[in-house]
Amino acid sequence: MNNAIFSFNKPQNEPVLKYLEGSNERIQLEKELERLSNTEIEIPLIIDGKEIYTGKTGKVVMPHNHGHVLATYHMATEKEVNMAIEAALRAKPMWENVSWLERSSIMLKIAKLLSEKYRATINAATMLGQSKNIYQAEIDAACETIDFLRFNVFFASQIYQHQPSSDNNQFNRLEYRALEGFVFAVSPFNFTSIASNLNMAPAMMGNTTVWKPATTSLLSNYFLMKIFEEAGVPNGVINFVPGSGSMIGRTVLAHKELAGVHFTGSNNTFNTLWKGVSDNLTNYRSYPKLVGETGGKDFIFVHNSAKAREVATAIIAGAFEYQGQKCSAASRAYIPESKWPEIKAEVLELYKKIKIGGPENVENFFNAVIDKGSYDNILSYIDEAKNCGDCEIIAGGNSDNSKGYFVEPTIIVTKNHDFTTMKEEIFGPVMTIYVYKDDKYIETLEICDKTSPYGLTGAIFSNDKYAMVQACRMLRYAAGNFYINDKPTGAMVGLQPFGGARGSGTNDKAGGHLNLLRWTSPRTVKETFVPATDILYDYMK
Ligand code: NAD
Repeated sequence: MNNAIFSFNKPQNEPVLKYLEGSNERIQLEKELERLSNTEIEIPLIIDGKEIYTGKTGKVVMPHNHGHVLATYHMATEKEVNMAIEAALRAKPMWENVSWLERSSIMLKIAKLLSEKYRATINAATMLGQSKNIYQAEIDAACETIDFLRFNVFFASQIYQHQPSSDNNQFNRLEYRALEGFVFAVSPFNFTSIASNLNMAPAMMGNTTVWKPATTSLLSNYFLMKIFEEAGVPNGVINFVPGSGSMIGRTVLAHKELAGVHFTGSNNTFNTLWKGVSDNLTNYRSYPKLVGETGGKDFIFVHNSAKAREVATAIIAGAFEYQGQKCSAASRAYIPESKWPEIKAEVLELYKKIKIGGPENVENFFNAVIDKGSYDNILSYIDEAKNCGDCEIIAGGNSDNSKGYFVEPTIIVTKNHDFTTMKEEIFGPVMTIYVYKDDKYIETLEICDKTSPYGLTGAIFSNDKYAMVQACRMLRYAAGNFYINDKPTGAMVGLQPFGGARGSGTNDKAGGHLNLLRWTSPRTVKETFVPATDILYDYMK
């Protein structure tokens, strides 16, 4: 056993590659896109390291070309869910008792494999399966996944070092135990990196997981699982269980040994999970830790000292990158009347640059939304705006799902600051703008704070320091990630720990030490050198 006291240096963020024509990374990526587009793979469950084909299958298609099948996947039944739980519980003692350095070395190896050998594969799978352009895939599937892994090792090394004081009479130790039981990791479709981290953050701290991936991101998620295995994650530490969310959730939440839920996804699903835990509360051995990052209704608030072009750029990039399917995507904006003509002109100018289509054409800034359900849901909001007397659609508003699920990036201007699209999460490319009177700055900040149930991200654009400070103060609880003169998306691991409160979740800050702490159950050990031999205190004698 290596007895060195080890601490990891703070890592650098993984560089975002440029993918210029003719570059090595572009050539590799194009080859992978070609290969994956021309193969239809079969995705099994992976439980205790074994591939399981249940015969109950579904299809994984390209959102931008839904007739093109990328994979057939096998779905779990209750039997396999229980097998996965038992496998996670069996793997736990070995995994939690192996030195954290060995767990770290596996995390760093996964990062290395993703950075080089499998960078093109994970990016291509994310582009085709989740309809992301090259840049969106690169910052997610490659860079952020790698950053989560490397930073978690660094944060864990800091956590393990943190110890209580001792003195000449006693020796005190804090042991960062893994949770007792298994962790249920439930991932959303929109970020490959999140799917990885929902498993790997608990695993870093010695936990084992049952992983329910989103059906619409199964291609990239399956490759992740294969890469975890290649890097040496032992059998049973992560158990990959695609299938029906409600059935898997019900079965897992009923298990006595559930120790934690690590969730990212919609508010409704997290509420269902929380209620499920509450219904089973008396069955559990411990109180399961519930960590959930959920929806957002993220805003851009503009003061009349802001620069029009900067605001317009933030609106277009913040609202429409990855088709607005980011929990942090800007979806409402408050703009002072005096600046609106100038900002509107800049927004419409930039809007013309957006090319729409599949990600295989590198000129496309904007691709398809994830599936039919999402497409219909987004259109219902656009239809409501079309039928609303207080609203005007100044860009977009059309759609076409004949080949892929394409919804035009849509900009609504409303006179009603309480209109549906100002307060509900749409999770698609819809930005609603409310133009306020310049002398109603404070009142409009109050409206912004109170309009939606969420509290995830938001931005203030202002070149007036007092106005900026005012917004920062009044919107204190409106966003867990607050931006000054920047779009409210694009948080980076190690730089902007991510998460929000209110309806946006438990705010445990993915990509920071706070999240890792949730996957530990510390034990304090006090050792006394000379034990007491009398019960009376000196003054009693
Ligand atoms: P979703 O809630 O529909 O699904 C998330 C996962 O939960 C999927 O794997 C799904 O199959 C599973 N699921 C659904 N019902 C379940 C149940 N009853 N029991 C167990 N699992 C169940 O979310 P989505 O559409 O995949 O992702 C979009 C949502 O995620 C948006 O609301 C977005 O804001 C949110 N999101 C939040 C963050 C954040 O950090 N706050 C990041 C990314 C996405």
